[in-house]
Amino acid sequence: EDRPLFVTIPGDFRVSFEFFPPKTEKMEQQLWDAVVELAPLDPSFVSVTYGAGGSTRERTHATVARIANETRLPPAAHLTCVAASKDEIAEVADRYWEAGVRHVVALRGDPPPETGGKFVPHPDGYASAAELVAGLKARHPFEISVAAYPEVHPEALSAQADLDNLKRKLDAGADRAITQFFYSTDAYFRFIDKVLAAGITAPILPGIMPVTNFAAIRRMSGNTEIPGWMVNLFDGLDALPGPRAHIAAAVAADLCRRLYQGGVRDFHFYTLNRADQTYAICHLLGLRPKDHAA
Ligand code: FAD
Repeated sequence: EDRPLFVTIPGDFRVSFEFFPPKTEKMEQQLWDAVVELAPLDPSFVSVTYGAGGSTRERTHATVARIANETRLPPAAHLTCVAASKDEIAEVADRYWEAGVRHVVALRGDPPPETGGKFVPHPDGYASAAELVAGLKARHPFEISVAAYPEVHPEALSAQADLDNLKRKLDAGADRAITQFFYSTDAYFRFIDKVLAAGITAPILPGIMPVTNFAAIRRMSGNTEIPGWMVNLFDGLDALPGPRAHIAAAVAADLCRRLYQGGVRDFHFYTLNRADQTYAICHLLGLRPKDHAA
């Protein structure tokens, strides 16, 4: 029987896209090309990350402000607790609010690598994302997203403690969570079962990371299980970025299809500032451009 590979209903799911702030003019152009290419897919929001240790404070702000000024896409600014006092964070939040930004992705953040990898709160700062959410909400009525870890945050005392922490962040006023990337749909759905059993009703958007560099994914993956079939699939592709990107798009689209079958209707893509692969995945799923210019 001749059946389509991907059976999604056009228009009944949404996407969002994550970018990182560019370091050079060339990267700025690449980012902007990506925003323009992906804009017609009508994302529910586009978010811009905040560098480790707060190193990209100005660049994140400039990128978010440019999206707010020059496109009709709703921007979301990532913000972390690292190396900042509560007053400094309030200033950053005020600037966003004044620039018309209404959505913050509130994170604890990872410390800069020089500090040996352990998070130490600023003496006048926030010690966790839950505290940051409460602080931001008290200052402005932002829409707030937080991080969730289907395979448990590496520093968590236990899976239950990590789930309790997610609940604290949502109880503090966060509206949704976005997950760390994962490649096991079972891990995601087992996590969602626990989330629901804990009485959490906020949306938990799966974070989709298409493999661009398999070695790097394995290094970054923390607790993320890389299924054996994926290791086999990417074997021999380390020096072949072109074929790898095509295969990674097919793998990510299949992951999304299985999530869709399990009821997921919002997908968050880690774009790494490259549009083509994310566009291809969305197209495979049945998403088509809206008449919506960047
Ligand atoms: P928290 O929710 O504060 O949790 C941190 C750890 O502490 C967890 O193990 C938690 O279980 C534990 N914990 C917290 N409170 C308690 C408590 N009261 N008792 C016991 N345990 C507790 N990093 C960046 O630097 N910039 C970014 O832009 C960025 N964007 C991200 C986007 C997404 C979608 C995700 C998933 C992660 C992102 N990160 C980013 C990474 C993130 O900063 C790190 O994973 C960081 O280590 C944890 O941040 P968090 O907000 O989850 O912290």
